Amino acid sequence: MSAAIAVAGALLVAGPAGASPNPAADPTAQTTQTPLERQVLPAGNGWASEGTGTTGGSAAEAANVYDVSSKAELLAAFAAGSQAKIIRIHGSINANTAADGSPLTCESYAEGTGYSLAQYLHDFDPETYGRDQEPAGPQEDARRLAAAKQAKTIRWDIPSNTTIVGATPDSSITGAALRINGAGNVIVRNLTLRDAADCFPAWDPTDGTEGNWNSEYDLLQVINKATHVWIDHSAFTDAPNLDSAQPLYFGRPYQVHDGAVDVTNGSDLVTMSYNRFSEHDKLLLIGSTDSPTRGDPGKLRVTIHHNVFENVGQRAPRVRFGQVDVYNNHFEVTEDSKIPYKYSLGAGFSSHLYAEANAFTLPAGIDAADIIGRYKGTAITTIANAVNGKITDLRAEYNAAAAPADQLAEDTSWTPTLRTQVHPAQAVPAQLKDSTGPVFTAGGNL
Ligand code: CA
Ligand code: CA
Repeated sequence: MSAAIAVAGALLVAGPAGASPNPAADPTAQTTQTPLERQVLPAGNGWASEGTGTTGGSAAEAANVYDVSSKAELLAAFAAGSQAKIIRIHGSINANTAADGSPLTCESYAEGTGYSLAQYLHDFDPETYGRDQEPAGPQEDARRLAAAKQAKTIRWDIPSNTTIVGATPDSSITGAALRINGAGNVIVRNLTLRDAADCFPAWDPTDGTEGNWNSEYDLLQVINKATHVWIDHSAFTDAPNLDSAQPLYFGRPYQVHDGAVDVTNGSDLVTMSYNRFSEHDKLLLIGSTDSPTRGDPGKLRVTIHHNVFENVGQRAPRVRFGQVDVYNNHFEVTEDSKIPYKYSLGAGFSSHLYAEANAFTLPAGIDAADIIGRYKGTAITTIANAVNGKITDLRAEYNAAAAPADQLAEDTSWTPTLRTQVHPAQAVPAQLKDSTGPVFTAGGNL
């Protein structure tokens, strides 16, 4: 960290926010002049505003404002612990690098483990190995060893009471599997997270009827009872390393990505607003198991509003257990999308999805009935959503095309209250066109 830059960051805070010495102590003191890294989640803005609300590191002392431009500086800031802290990312940081900053390739991780993709493909070819058991043997052991080396390098935990922001329009983190792991009160804003590629996908011949390649890393995991998380004006994408450019092995796509933002294992109270999610298949998994043993029942409450989902394949979101409010988002699939479209709203086991005033822009061949996917869910609420500009009853469209056993009832169990203004669905595409993802204005404020 550069001391000079840190001082500059502190001066910025003392300037416009000067009239309000400690804006975080009193959220009502926040004004549009408050620098974005000093802003807190406004009251009533989604589930993350419930109870104590989400202030992140907004009240950080000057000594706990970190201006970082390298992986080493970023990890040092994470290691500083859970006192209120602000981390400002400058430029692009690549997770797949060694301590001296030199790049690490998949071959670097495999070195010394005995792993070879060619040998792995030979050993576990379903034609000879069969389709009824998961891979076991020296090549699977070697794959796990190599994968552990990559995980140790790219999996980073954001501690409690942190605000992490992009400081410049080109600020990004590439290749990292970030986690909010058992932590609370975290704000992520104005940051681009891209391409958390797994060098060592695992073959699971029992996944689906034809088997699947499964990868490990999400761009951001909210996991292990993490609470009060606000993810805002950020961008999440696989680009430029799309899975569509990967080969087929065993006739199945060699997918190197998992989720974009997954909320699992009893985590709770998350607001995602004004983000841009693009070019990714399995996007937002909320709840990873139908079993109650990870503390999910009563938790997994997430608000998703004013985000753009462009060329996303599925799980936007897929929900188990949680009360999840999805309003005023724009879901767009372009004619030339390279991501196969499966569905957007996934009603999973014991889920409570409430989808209101979202806009869907879909090409020929994808119908309103395709928007909902049922994964053991029994109910969903859909109100005043628009498909290609026309107000459409998504649940009715889904039910009209679904088998009797797959019908979804209206979910009368709850009504969202923690909302900002709800706009008409037809106004949403134009409203979000230039206002999602990282936004930088002259004063550095949003
Ligand atoms: Ca699997
Ligand atoms: Ca995941």
